[in-house]
Amino acid sequence: MKTLIENDYLLLTPGPLSTSPTVRQAMDRDWCTWDEEYNEGVVTPIRQRLVELATATCPKDYTCVLMQGSGTFSVEAMLGSTIGPTDRLLVLANGVYGNRLAQIADCLRIDHVVHDSGELERPDLDRLDDELAQDESITHVVLVHGETTTGMINPLLPIAAMVKGHGRLLLVDSMSAFGGVPLDIAELGIDYLVSSANKCIQGVPGFGFVIGRKAHLEQTKGWARSLSLDLHAQWQDMEQGRGKWRFTSPTHVVRAFYQALMELEAEGGIAVRHARYSENQRRLVTGMDRLGFDCVLPAEYQGPIITGFHNPTHPDYDFGRFYAMLKEKGFVIYPGSVTGIDSFRIGTIGHVFPNDIDRLLLAIESSMYWA
Ligand SMILES: *Cc1c(COP(=O)(O)O)cnc(C)c1O
Repeated sequence: MKTLIENDYLLLTPGPLSTSPTVRQAMDRDWCTWDEEYNEGVVTPIRQRLVELATATCPKDYTCVLMQGSGTFSVEAMLGSTIGPTDRLLVLANGVYGNRLAQIADCLRIDHVVHDSGELERPDLDRLDDELAQDESITHVVLVHGETTTGMINPLLPIAAMVKGHGRLLLVDSMSAFGGVPLDIAELGIDYLVSSANKCIQGVPGFGFVIGRKAHLEQTKGWARSLSLDLHAQWQDMEQGRGKWRFTSPTHVVRAFYQALMELEAEGGIAVRHARYSENQRRLVTGMDRLGFDCVLPAEYQGPIITGFHNPTHPDYDFGRFYAMLKEKGFVIYPGSVTGIDSFRIGTIGHVFPNDIDRLLLAIESSMYWA
């Protein structure tokens, strides 16, 4: 009899996040990377299901490529492999992860321009319209869906309509939102979307994935600026090898991810998961407001993934001490990262439920040693 191991604390961080005991238990055996039981029984169904989660309307136009490494490796694979040598990229940035897109473009020497709207603002649609109208050399636009710096959800619908209206390719870093926020990439016209195992699908860290439009991906052979992060080559191996990865795959992590996908389905799918995350976040904000904590973002920009709160200004308050007291009580929170704002963050995704948020609020109330 295997026993399910409970964790010492709940991770209220947006990745890695708290996973279910059954997801962790799924890692408890070894797999052969060239045997069909693994490739056709685990890898291929994962690729198919991810496409189906990304679009209900037109799955046949898209494919999914899994890539070793943390989420950033997949972002780098996407940018480095799908932007041609004479193409030009527009980066919409409003936080750490938007800036990272520009950093990757810099590092890979991809010709690019940055539209930075500031960490507390959404991209300016009129400005984007002008930028696309005036610079015909821009071929691709990339943005972050859920900006984990603040918890901002960027408005994909009007941005996608504008980018597609100008006939450009649209790439989305939906790392922290995919699986927890409903969307249909075919309906939106998104060409490539990237996410990873350890965010809203609720797997453990170790790989990411890119869901891309086949008709474009087919044209990108030889474009990759890296040997190992070559999306087209990985795609071809996965197709021809029926689930085979080019280099050693993180087998245990992949098997755990398969279990996480089953659990997402059992929960009722993305819409139901989104409702749970939203309820977690609503309870959190209501309770924190009662305790005197103010949110960093205006409510209309705030998504259900992670929420920033201003640190108390009391002279006796110290984040490190507050953090340690909460950890002692079984909850791990996250420091802030918004420039110039003294804040901390609490994630509401993962194997975390409204009653956990109620317990968290009691723990916070009893840890307010400065009040
Ligand atoms: C988590 C995350 C990433 C990837 O971060 P890694 O540390 O490489 O996994 C990228 N973009 C966003 C918006 C994220 O939340």
